[in-house]
Formats: sequence, C-alpha cells, structure tokens
Amino acid sequence: MRTLSLPTGGEMPVLGLGTWRMGEDVTRHATEVAAVREAIGLGYRLIDTAEMYGEGGAETVVGQAVADALRAGDVRRDELFIVSKVYPHNASRRGTGQACERSLARLGLDRIDLYLLHWRGNHPLAHTVEALHELVAAGRIGHWGVSNFDTDDMEELAQVVGSGPACAANQVYLSLGERGPEFDLLPWQRERGVPLMAYSPIDQGALAGDEALGRLAAELGVSAAQLALAAVMARDGVAAIPKAVRSAHLKENWAAAQLQLDAATLSALDHIYPVPKRKTPLAMI
Ligand code: NDP
Repeated sequence: MRTLSLPTGGEMPVLGLGTWRMGEDVTRHATEVAAVREAIGLGYRLIDTAEMYGEGGAETVVGQAVADALRAGDVRRDELFIVSKVYPHNASRRGTGQACERSLARLGLDRIDLYLLHWRGNHPLAHTVEALHELVAAGRIGHWGVSNFDTDDMEELAQVVGSGPACAANQVYLSLGERGPEFDLLPWQRERGVPLMAYSPIDQGALAGDEALGRLAAELGVSAAQLALAAVMARDGVAAIPKAVRSAHLKENWAAAQLQLDAATLSALDHIYPVPKRKTPLAMI
C-alpha cells in the first residue's frame, strides 16, 4: 500500500477503513467486529474511528477486532495506524487527555497513532493544542491533527502551534461529489506537507449508484465505487477512508488502491465532477 509522509515523521497509508455508524447497535456488534477483522486480514492498516461514533461503541468494535487480530498473529501492533477523534466539547486543556484515556481504554491500546480534534468548538485552540502536545510527549498518541478545518482555520491553527509537534493531518469531506477542498485547502496543505484525509469518499455510498460514474467505470472494468475511491487517492497528498461492513465492499475498496487512472480518465472525471472555480465554504457531514 502506498503511504503518505507525515510532517511529524512516519507514514500513513493512502487507504483506510472508516467506522462511522459502527458500534451503534449491539445486534450488529459481531458482524462489525468481523468486518474490521476481515479488513485487517485483507491488509488494511489505517482504521479511522472517533469517540463520537456510537458514543464509544465504534472504538469498542475496533478494539475487539484489533485484539483478535493481534492475538491471531495476523498483524503486529506497529503495522497498524489507529486514528481516533476527540469531541470539541471535550477538547479543553484537561478534558482532551481524559477523553483520550477513555478512547484508549475502549480501544484496548496504550497509544493512538493519530488523534484528531473532530471539529472546531468553543475551547480555545491553544488549550486543545497544548493538551495534544502533552499527549504526544507522554506517548499516549503518536501524532495529533484536526478535522473539518478550512483554510482559514488551518492558518489560525498554525499561529498557535508554537514549538511543539506540528499538525500531522486534516480530515475533511472530499469526494468526486464534493471537490471544494481541491480549490484552496488541498493546495495549502500540500505546500506545508500536511496530508488530507478524505472522509465520505463514496458520498456515503451514493456514488456507487451514480450512473455517469458507473458508465465510465464499466469501460475500465471496475465499479463506480472503485473509480470514486481511485479518483480521490489519485490526488497528491490525499488518503481515503471509506467505511464498509460488507465483505464485497471491503474487498472492492482494497483493490481500488491498486488502480492507476490515466490522464484521459482523470480529465473525463473533471468534466463530470468539476472542481469549483471559486472558494466554497468547507462542506461538513
Ligand atoms: P463512505 O463514503 O465511506 O460510504 C460508506 C457507505 O458506502 C456504507 O453504506 C457502505 O456500505 C457503502 N460502501 C462502501 N464501499 C462500497 C462499495 N465498494 N460499493 C458500494 N457501496 C459501498 O461514507 P462515510 O460517511 O462512512 O465516510 C467514511 C468514514 O469517514 C467514516 O466511516 C468515518 O470514519 C469518517 N468520517 C469522518 C467525518 C469527520 O467529521 N471527521 C465525517 C464523516 C465520516 P456497507 O457499510 O454496508 O459495506
């Protein structure tokens, strides 16, 4: 799997597994654990979760799948790249560390590889960043980053980071249907070597049924969802984190990371899904 270099050292795979909507219903628990376990077996190493998802339920699902995979020897801990997020209302100077400890307990881990502020809230950024720096220093997280930050938020963040470790990634909504970040945010991040993690890269499943995309995908012998993912991963500095529970989806998405799109396909995609010609506010799901 191709990786992206983090500005704070280390690497992040360009494809990961999303887990939003997991951990919400106990009757689906075993199926979801099996899906995350299958993903690890297929080779997925980046798993994206958050304290928000299922109010901790998704972290519990991930924790159980990771524990099973480690016990079975399917993967080593240092090969995995586990991402979680703190709720903005918890992201105070003291609350951030406490939330992180709760996430670590649910994940059954002693370190989260990348810990993100889920979106901007009322706590001053400086307080959150100070707490995140402390978590890095204590080894409880490997890197810290943000999510749903637009270019002006990133500018403001850069002012408060000081001499501590830099922001390692920004996770935002980016898909063929939502290309706003390609206008200014992605170029801003590329200039500074900060990877962009694209969430909802299949537009929550909608692009899988998109007719125009389906026609183009059929010519290439792939599915519409695979083409949607390959298009996102084709952008320099971008990783995609599709969520999937169904085995066929997990496999299809994994295979999409191997697709190389030629210039003619990329230009056909630009024609159907153009990048906006002016700044648009960052979309959020
Ligand atoms: P996605 O665009 O990843 O779509 C997920 C949906 O698409 C699921 O219903 C899934 O079905 C379906 N799907 C997956 N693969 C395929 C395929 N190959 N063909 C057809 N359908 C497919 O949406 P998400 O909103 O879940 O985004 C991905 C992840 O990004 C989240 O899970 C979360 O981790 C993160 N995220 C972060 C946000 C933030 O604020 N930071 C906001 C939103 C998402 P099934 O599950 O049945 O297999």
